[in-house]
Amino acid sequence: MSFDLAARLAARRTDNLYRQRPLLQSPQGPQVVVDGQPLLAFCNNDYLGLANHPQVIEAWQAGAARWGVGGGASHLVVGHSTPHHALEEALAEFTGRPRALLFTTGYMANLGTVTALVGQGDTVLEDRLNHASLLDAGLLSGARFNRYLHNDAASLATRLEKACGNTLVVTDGVFSMDGDLADLPTLARETRARGAWLMVDDAHGFGPLGAKGGGIVEHFGLSQEDVPVLVGTLGKAFGTAGAFVAGSEELIESLIQFARPYIYTTSQPPALACATLKSLELLRSEHWRREHLNALIRQFREGAEQIGLELMDSFTPIQPIMIGDSARAVRLSQMLRERGIMVTAIRPPTVPAGSARLRVTLSAAHNEAQVRLLLDALDECFRLSGRESDHA
Ligand SMILES: *Cc1c(COP(=O)(O)O)cnc(C)c1O
Repeated sequence: MSFDLAARLAARRTDNLYRQRPLLQSPQGPQVVVDGQPLLAFCNNDYLGLANHPQVIEAWQAGAARWGVGGGASHLVVGHSTPHHALEEALAEFTGRPRALLFTTGYMANLGTVTALVGQGDTVLEDRLNHASLLDAGLLSGARFNRYLHNDAASLATRLEKACGNTLVVTDGVFSMDGDLADLPTLARETRARGAWLMVDDAHGFGPLGAKGGGIVEHFGLSQEDVPVLVGTLGKAFGTAGAFVAGSEELIESLIQFARPYIYTTSQPPALACATLKSLELLRSEHWRREHLNALIRQFREGAEQIGLELMDSFTPIQPIMIGDSARAVRLSQMLRERGIMVTAIRPPTVPAGSARLRVTLSAAHNEAQVRLLLDALDECFRLSGRESDHA
C-alpha cells in the first residue's frame, strides 16, 4: 500500500500547477523582501494599508499588555472576552445590523454559517466562481448543492424553481479572483421572491467599497431584508485577522448554538480584537485611503489599456490581467520578478481551466510612481513574451 505522493507531486509539476510559498522577510506593504530579494509588491489584500499601521500595532501591544496573548478557551466556555464583545458591538453598529459574531477566520465563518443554516432536505445555491470556503461549506452542509452561472440571475432563477427545503443563495460580494461585483440588487430580488435567503461574503468589499467602507451592501444601498446573512473578513482591508457575520438577533443566536467552527475552537487572541477595533476606526474615518486607492485603480486601468492588456470588468483593487495559459502566466510573473516587481500568477484550480491570470492588487499604501513602475514593467514583459502572437 502506498499513497504514491511522489507521482501526484510530479503530475502537478508537469501541469505547471505546482505551488511554492514565497518567504516574506519584511512586514506587509508595497516594498517587501521576499526570498532575500527586495520587491515592489502588487499582490496582498491589505487594500487600505492598515496591516502595518503604527496605531493598529500600538492597539495590539496595549491589548496584549492588558488582556494577555491567548484567548484561552472557546467563546462558549470562558474565551469570550471584553475586547471580543466590544468588537462585535462595533461591527454590528458599522454594518447597521442588530448583532455581529466574531469568527477566528473567514474560512471558518463560511463553514460555520452555511452548515448551521442548511442541512439534509435543504438547498444551497452558489455562484460557480465563489471562494473555495463557500463551496466547501455548501458541500459539507449535506444540503442539495448546486452552482449557478457566474453572476447570472436567470441561471439562479431556474435553480430556485427546483429548490426544496430552506434555500440559501450564497455569493461573494466582490469576486476574489476577478474583482467584479455580484449583481446583488437582482440576486436579492430573485432570492426574496422565492422565499429564500441571500448570504453575501464581502471579504474584498469591506473597506474599499461604500462611502464609509461598508462594502457592497452599502454600495448598492441594500437592507438586511435583501441580504439577511452578511459575512466580512478582517484579514484583508482591516489588515488584521478573523471574520464576522452580521445579521438579526435570531441569526446570531442560531450561529452561537449550531455553528460548529464557532463552538469548537479557541477564541482569537483578545489583543487582536483590540487591534481590529483600531483598524475599524481608521477604515471608517480616513476617507482619503479610499479616494487615493480609487485614483490608483483609475491610473492602472488607463495605463493598462494603453499597453493593450486584457483587463477584467472590475473597478475594485483587484485588477487581474487575463493570460489563459498557466505556463505563460508563471513565466510573466517570473519576468516581472526579475525586474523587481511581484505579481502573483493565479492558476487552476483556484480559477477555471484555461483562465490563468496575473492577479494585480492595489493598495492605498501604493503611490502613483509605483503604479507607473508596474505599468512600465508590464509593458516590457508583455512585449518580450510576444503579445502580438496572442492577438493574431
Ligand atoms: C480570504 C477569503 C476568505 C477567507 O478568509 P480568511 O479569514 O482568510 O480565512 C473567505 N472568503 C473570501 C471571498 C475570501 O477572499
